[in-house]
Amino acid sequence: MAAITPERLSLNTATTRAQWKLDQAIEGCARHGFGGIAPWRDQLQALGPEKAARQIREAGLAVSGLCRGGWFTAEGALTQNVLDDNRRAVDEAVTIGAECLVMVVGGLAPGSRDLESARAMIEEGLAKTLDYARTVDMKIAIEPLHPMYAADRAAVNTMRQALDICDRLGDGIGVAADVYHIWWDPEVRDQIARAGKKRLMAFHLCDWLVPTTDMLNDRGMMGDGVIDIAGLRGAVEAEGFSGLNEVEIFSQENWWKRDPDEVMRVIIERAGSVC
Ligand code: ZN
Repeated sequence: MAAITPERLSLNTATTRAQWKLDQAIEGCARHGFGGIAPWRDQLQALGPEKAARQIREAGLAVSGLCRGGWFTAEGALTQNVLDDNRRAVDEAVTIGAECLVMVVGGLAPGSRDLESARAMIEEGLAKTLDYARTVDMKIAIEPLHPMYAADRAAVNTMRQALDICDRLGDGIGVAADVYHIWWDPEVRDQIARAGKKRLMAFHLCDWLVPTTDMLNDRGMMGDGVIDIAGLRGAVEAEGFSGLNEVEIFSQENWWKRDPDEVMRVIIERAGSVC
């Protein structure tokens, strides 16, 4: 398997969000020879989607995904407000030419213990958003999150669960496989094979630190933790996945405190040596 070269990398802007606004991240990606970028919606809206699209195009970057739609359970019911926001997310993804709109689907409804109904609400929200996304030719990628987030971020927690939803909903929907969320799953390789090229829409990289000191904001740089990243990349590429390797590191106490150009250099070095 060939080492990852910079042009095969995409920067998920969460990685440098403490240091760079979106226009700076676009410039940073171009300066370091990255092939792509994956913006978050708050930063995209701050810059303006049209302006961002122009800057990304001029920098010659691909967009490996837009983070994120979803949060279908946030208001306790599938409200028009939630559906409209997802529609806007689809439109923003189209504007910037994203490969897919990544979905963090939402956890339990506020005050609820009913995981089953949360999951039903999520599937209905995905179906409705997909109906719209198909009309504008945007792909929807469900990102299954590690089960520690089932309560507050995403009640879709395994590749199997995400792919079962995809099978029920049909074309135009797939998965964003993030090594942080899937590495522990004894079924991960079988489910990557089941997904195949058609449903593998994004591949996110970081590492699982031991110990992990914060559930959300203590992700590791590739090589600093215990995930067999090269093994998982081999598995997705064996299915024909040819998208960019998107680096997404939430790191309050470490990488968010560093010079972002140093962060970019370390990403390139690790991508070439441990991924
Ligand atoms: Zn991710």
